[in-house]
Amino acid sequence: MSFEKFSFDRRIAAGIQAAGYITPTPIQDQAIPIVLEGRDVLGIAQTGTGKTAAFILPILQRLLDGRSRHVRALVLAPTRELAEQIHQATIELGRGTDVRSVSIYGGVSKRPQLAALRRGVEIVVACPGRLLDHMGERAIDLSRVEVLVLDEADRMCDMGFLPDIRRIIQHLPEKRQTLFFSATMPRDIRALADRILRNPATVQIGMIAPVETVSHALYPVPNTLKKGLLAAMLKRTATGRVLVFTRTKHRARNLAPYLKKQGHRAAALQGDMTQNQRQNAINGFRNGKYDILVATDIAARGIDVTNISHVINYDMPDTVDAYTHRIGRTGRAERTGEAFTLATYADALMVRDIEKVLGEKIERRRLDGFEYGGFTPESQFQTMKSAQSRLGARSYRPRGRPRGRNAKATW
Ligand code: AMP
Repeated sequence: MSFEKFSFDRRIAAGIQAAGYITPTPIQDQAIPIVLEGRDVLGIAQTGTGKTAAFILPILQRLLDGRSRHVRALVLAPTRELAEQIHQATIELGRGTDVRSVSIYGGVSKRPQLAALRRGVEIVVACPGRLLDHMGERAIDLSRVEVLVLDEADRMCDMGFLPDIRRIIQHLPEKRQTLFFSATMPRDIRALADRILRNPATVQIGMIAPVETVSHALYPVPNTLKKGLLAAMLKRTATGRVLVFTRTKHRARNLAPYLKKQGHRAAALQGDMTQNQRQNAINGFRNGKYDILVATDIAARGIDVTNISHVINYDMPDTVDAYTHRIGRTGRAERTGEAFTLATYADALMVRDIEKVLGEKIERRRLDGFEYGGFTPESQFQTMKSAQSRLGARSYRPRGRPRGRNAKATW
C-alpha cells in the first residue's frame, strides 16, 4: 500500500516522493492515522523503523495552515546527531511547505539558533540541555506548543535528562498532543509515559528484538587477536558500508588509524571530537569518502546513513539494549544487513542475554584461513556454555581483562 491512503496534502506528498519513500513502514502504517486524528501515541520502536517520518509527516500536515511563525511542535531528542537527523528529515519531507524548523543543541554557537528563533519557526528539534539554556534566557516561547514529541525516551533517561525533560514539560500547555517513542519500556520510562500521555494509542514494532532483516553472527576470539581478526574479516567479506563499535572513545581513536594502515578508508566517530569533526566523519561516511566508521555507542546515536551493510561489534556492548540499538543501524527500513560480534570469554553472559531477547541462538563462526594460533573457536563454544551455567547469576558481569594469559584459557 502506498502513502496515498493517508490523504496527505499534495505539498507533503511531494516531500515523500522526493525522499524516495514508496511504501510506508509498519510503524508509519500504524502511527500516522492515529497521529493525524490528534491522539497521543506511545510508540515502542527503535531507530531504523522509519519512526521519524511517522511523527514528522502528520505534524507537517497539522502545521500547514497559516504561517504562524511561533513554536507549535517541539521534538526532544537525546543527542545532537539525532536532533540534526530529525531536523534534516523535516526539511526534506517539508520541502514543499512553508513550515520552518530549527535544531537546537549544545557544543555549537547559540547565535544561528537564536537568529532562527527570532525569524520564527514552527518546529523546534532540541536536546534538553541547550533548550533549557534558551528558555532561561527567554529566547524561546513554548507556551503555544500543540505537539510534543519525545524521541528515544529511554536513551534520554539513560543520559540523565529526565529532570530536564520534566522542567521543559512544565512550560508547555497542558492541552497538547504528546507522542512518546522509546525502544524499550523500563519502569522509569513507563512511569514518565503514564504521567504525560492522555489515553494514548500504543504502537509497538518489534519490541526490543532487533529488526528481522538483520542476520547475526558471533566470532569467538581472544582479546589479543581481535585487531587481526577484524582486519581479516574486512578483507574477506564483501562489505559495503561498515559501522564498527568499540567500548570506549580511546579504542575508537586507536582502531581507526590501524584500519587506515591496513588500506581501508576508515574514520573514527567519538565524543572527544568537535562537532565539526564529527559532522565531517558522518558526512564522509554518508557520501562514500569513508567505508568504515569506528564509533562509540553515544557518538553513533542518530547517524542517519542508509545502506549500512554491516555492523561489527569489535567490543561487546554493555547491555542488550545497546546491542539492539547498534544493530538497528543496519537492515534499516526493509534493507538487509549483517551484524558480527567479536566475543571473548568475558562476554559469555551478555551473549546469553542477547540470545534470550532474540529468541534464538546466534550462529558461531570461525573465519576460515585466519591464523588463530593455539586458539580454537569451536572449543570456546564449549567453554562458553559451561561458563554460562557456572556464572548463571544475572548480576555477574565479567569485565575487563579475561583471566589468564594464554589464548586458550582466556576464552
Ligand atoms: P528512522 O527510523 O526514522 O531513523 O528511519 C530509518 C531510515 O529509513 C531513514 O534513513 C529514513 O530515511 C528511511 N525511511 C523512513 N521511512 C521510509 C519509507 N517509508 N521507505 C523507505 N525508507 C524509509
